[in-house]
Amino acid sequence: NNIRIALDGPAAAGKSTAAKKIAEKLGFIYIDTGAMYRTLTLKAVNQQIDPKNEQALYDLLMNTVIELKPGEDGQLVFLDGKEVTRDIREQRVTKHVSDVALHKAVRSEMVKRQQKLLKNGGIVMDGRDIGTAVIPDAELKIFMSATAEERARRRFEEHQSQGIKSDLQQLKSEIEERDYIDSTREVSPLTKAEDAIELDTTHMSIDEVVNKVTELAAG
Ligand code: C5P
Repeated sequence: NNIRIALDGPAAAGKSTAAKKIAEKLGFIYIDTGAMYRTLTLKAVNQQIDPKNEQALYDLLMNTVIELKPGEDGQLVFLDGKEVTRDIREQRVTKHVSDVALHKAVRSEMVKRQQKLLKNGGIVMDGRDIGTAVIPDAELKIFMSATAEERARRRFEEHQSQGIKSDLQQLKSEIEERDYIDSTREVSPLTKAEDAIELDTTHMSIDEVVNKVTELAAG
């Protein structure tokens, strides 16, 4: 039963936490496509490339190796051979990633790379355009949502448990800003695929989400 699960939804809806557990339960591979946009953004920020400069970003991407590898505790991310798993979660990256991800040339190259990772199924892929652009014929599509308040609260708790200083109100406005850019861009904006099942996780625990999706995956 090596199906492909496309998991889309707005920022901090719990996609990656759920996807990781779903993949574990089903013995599937988990692919976090947001990490790829974040990795390019990290490199651009480090090189002081303007996130609005499409040509410069595309040229940069064509000279960039992004690798996702399974690790002990989830996916490890490598930029040109160097591990950047934690670096790509930094504020200086998060702030610019949606601007980097809105460019057509960048997206089509990323989608191409993501499609190469698909192989024979048995995967859970999370992102914004997986059900609409990357795997339009996925066997199972989930659109995971939650209120902005709840998403900000979850991200805040995550930061607290990792000892990262953060501000709830600021987190909420950043999440809303990213959602706005992601859902209003011209190329494959964040939207629910017609045949996706919507899962509002506002009042669901992570285990409930995981159980629901694995049930759906079992058919
Ligand atoms: O999933 P995550 O929040 O890490 O994604 C970071 C950003 O990357 C998103 O806000 C979005 O701008 C972009 N992204 C995208 N398409 C994807 C995955 C992520 O545009 N498939």
